[in-house]
Amino acid sequence: MTVRITFLGTGGGRHTTMYQTRCTGGMLMEHGNPVHRLHIDPGPGALVQMNRIRYDLGKTESVIISHAHPDHYGDSPSVIEGMTRGGWKKRGHVYGSPTVITGEGGLGPCVSQYHQSLVEGVQVFRPGDVLNVDGMQVDICKAKHSDPTNVGFRFHTDAGIISYVSDTEFTEEIARQYIGSRVLILPVTTPHGNQIKFHLCTDTAIEFCRIVRPELCIFIHLGIVMIRQGPANEARYCQERSGVRTVAGEDRMVLEAGEILRLGQARAHSGEWYPRWSPRGPGRQPNRGSRATVVKQEKPAAADTEGPHRRRRHHRPGDQGPGAPPQMPT
Ligand SMILES: [Zn+2]
Repeated sequence: MTVRITFLGTGGGRHTTMYQTRCTGGMLMEHGNPVHRLHIDPGPGALVQMNRIRYDLGKTESVIISHAHPDHYGDSPSVIEGMTRGGWKKRGHVYGSPTVITGEGGLGPCVSQYHQSLVEGVQVFRPGDVLNVDGMQVDICKAKHSDPTNVGFRFHTDAGIISYVSDTEFTEEIARQYIGSRVLILPVTTPHGNQIKFHLCTDTAIEFCRIVRPELCIFIHLGIVMIRQGPANEARYCQERSGVRTVAGEDRMVLEAGEILRLGQARAHSGEWYPRWSPRGPGRQPNRGSRATVVKQEKPAAADTEGPHRRRRHHRPGDQGPGAPPQMPT
């Protein structure tokens, strides 16, 4: 069974995030049989990238958020609304650290009570916990970051352990948690010779790789100085010194992990698009006979080949109707 990870953003840090030099939308993981879809750290850019690859966010079943920094949670309210079909269908689970779910130490909460009420389950995690996310074991690992509740993850997939370390400073103890990982997804915010507090740079990424010895290391969470310096060169530098195959992530890059590890790129589309379950006007087919609303239909991406085709009931403004989501304060 192949596990697929689509990188919706490979930027990180406040400058890359505020400029969106690279997107910061986290990762979509498709795993299991039947396939389950998990969105990890849906920061800014996630929604735009999902639209570009024609991914129907109504298929997402779980959202996991490592900590209360915007590059990791910024798009999460709309991602949760998508997962719950606009808030009309109570479904899916949200997992997060204490700052994300309840707020702690002046940080968060990042997911509002309203959005928590839309899903089937909400779970707070701490280091040492073991989660069952749609049938997949996820180990919660310790990190050392400016949000002290931040954690990293070991995902036990059918293709081996794929780890996402999330933001952390390097310590040997933190790195040793990931021994046994086949793939190490590492947030390397700055290039070599440019260590900043609470994050990894290429030098500490090398130390990390020497301890974990994965089959593949992928650099993500690229800060603006790293991007200007050239992440591909930094990845090569890490590979030469650690002996671990290392690549620099790119937005919409796809990792397929089966017997072998394959890297590719998701097809990017332009033009307007919406999923099949999106609202239609009462009693008429969408877009028929109206030049102003003609939408260029494009072939859906591989991730969007099934999907429900259900008509929503119609509502007048102010008509909440049975089963309507609770009102969000405006
Ligand atoms: Zn952070």
